[in-house]
Amino acid sequence: MFRDYVASACGNASAASGPFYCPGDQKVYIDLSFYQDMQDKLNTPGDFAMAYVIAHEVGHHVQNLLGTTNKVDQLRERLSETEFNKYSVMLELQADFYAGVWAHYADRTKNILEEGDIEEAMNAANAIGDDRLQQEATGRVVPDAFTHGTSAQRMYWFKKGYDTGDIRQGDTFKGSDI
Ligand SMILES: [Zn+2]
Repeated sequence: MFRDYVASACGNASAASGPFYCPGDQKVYIDLSFYQDMQDKLNTPGDFAMAYVIAHEVGHHVQNLLGTTNKVDQLRERLSETEFNKYSVMLELQADFYAGVWAHYADRTKNILEEGDIEEAMNAANAIGDDRLQQEATGRVVPDAFTHGTSAQRMYWFKKGYDTGDIRQGDTFKGSDI
């Protein structure tokens, strides 16, 4: 956990980077000022909103273990930024899907979900969609610059993971060569 600044195997990060997963040291970095922002600025309060964010980052660890991260990384060299962004979106949406799968089993096996928890996660997924963040930051939406997916896509994939609990259904790369 960090606030403001942290050094990782993936380089130095400021709070502006938000929470992230670093494949180099296989650690999840949780930015506490982002958590604060979720409550104060993004209007996404709730413990389960934060749980979704953490589960999304752990989802990136799963992708790393399964070799998906590596496959996507290899494309970075030979694709234009716009083309690569499409794969970045698929990778991010799959991490949202895995977060949903986690929520499914966390509830089944530990019975930790409370009334309104899934709504908190969906509200957070909605708030951190690229379209919504771009609209708020610049007043316009540039789909070519999306790296995480729209609010609707993020909610869709989280919900699908939660509803199915089936890791095989997280094929966000369908139709691509990954
Ligand atoms: Zn991510």
